Amino acid sequence: MPRIRHQRCPACKTDSLAATSNPSILDCRQCHGLWFEDGALNHAIAHQHDCIDDYDHELHLGPALRPSDRQCRRCQVPMVHYQLLEHYTTEIDCCPECDGVWLDKHEIDQVMHSPKLKQALSDLNKKVTWKSWLFQFLTSMPVEYNVQPHRTPWVTRLLIALCSLIFVAGMFAPDTNEWIFVNLGLNSDTQSPAHFVLQLLTYQFVHGGLMHLVGNMYFLSIIGDNLEDALGHGAFLAIYLFAGVMAALAELMLFDTAQGPLLLVGASGSIAALFGLYLLWFRHASLTFMIIVYQKKLAPHWYFLIWSLINLFGMFTAQGGVAWAAHLGGFALGLLLGYLMKDYVLRKNPLIALLNQPEAVLRR
Ligand SMILES: [Zn+2]
Ligand SMILES: [Zn+2]
Ligand SMILES: [Zn+2]
Repeated sequence: MPRIRHQRCPACKTDSLAATSNPSILDCRQCHGLWFEDGALNHAIAHQHDCIDDYDHELHLGPALRPSDRQCRRCQVPMVHYQLLEHYTTEIDCCPECDGVWLDKHEIDQVMHSPKLKQALSDLNKKVTWKSWLFQFLTSMPVEYNVQPHRTPWVTRLLIALCSLIFVAGMFAPDTNEWIFVNLGLNSDTQSPAHFVLQLLTYQFVHGGLMHLVGNMYFLSIIGDNLEDALGHGAFLAIYLFAGVMAALAELMLFDTAQGPLLLVGASGSIAALFGLYLLWFRHASLTFMIIVYQKKLAPHWYFLIWSLINLFGMFTAQGGVAWAAHLGGFALGLLLGYLMKDYVLRKNPLIALLNQPEAVLRR
């Protein structure tokens, strides 16, 4: 067999395959795909994941789809298209005779991350269980399906602890409670500008009732962990507090002070901004929605669309006691920031980027 055939790239059919520092991996200098043989692909995948010693990618492949128009550079037989994973529709070319595998340039990242992708997709595609049904039936709170965060969500936990502590302090002492509302809540009557600016931050930690606190903290705990993981602790905290300030300003702008001074408390505005980020970055996640007794996993955009409609309805029918404008203002800010930061966040989080691609098959 003439040696030159062995340099033939299965994809672009030019004689451009060249050895890399690993002799079992060849790189096409034309189309930048990679050829793997002698188990080199398994080593490369295991190397990406410190926790895996041995990996056999063939065990995880989806179904064999059809013969490919590409030829194995060694055996000169047509390769076979396999789906990368059961729930990821990228097609890779494998030789039916040797263990040669060809990856196009855009597939390399997907294949290298495939063990994590497989785990993530199996978490995301879990069916609702009777436990999640019972939980939502009793609490009216959604159940979240998302990937397991890597970082411990310290900031999320700290925010929850602070809000709860302030609430408990007020619950046991009526005097303290009044002091908390007057000084830490956002009060449009506050005279000192410095105090008012401080209140723009502190009002986010004060809650008006147990259900107000529990509802907010539950949402913060389920979506905060993934957002903090994607952004990093500092950026997450900065966005959370900034969104709370902007949500309060939105409420102040639309509030008619002729009805009396505005007293605003609660983390809802800040958390509404997190909804916007979540919607734009985690299209793969699901939140369950319940109509009487029927529970359904919804994509975040559907879930938060329903949530926004409820808020719009509340604002126009002007039901008192809830800061509709703060909710919607926070949410709009979250959508804007989420849109502006999406490329950056996906670059920082390869797994989230891969789950955002259309190849991810999501079952709801
Ligand atoms: Zn090529
Ligand atoms: Zn072969
Ligand atoms: Zn979560």
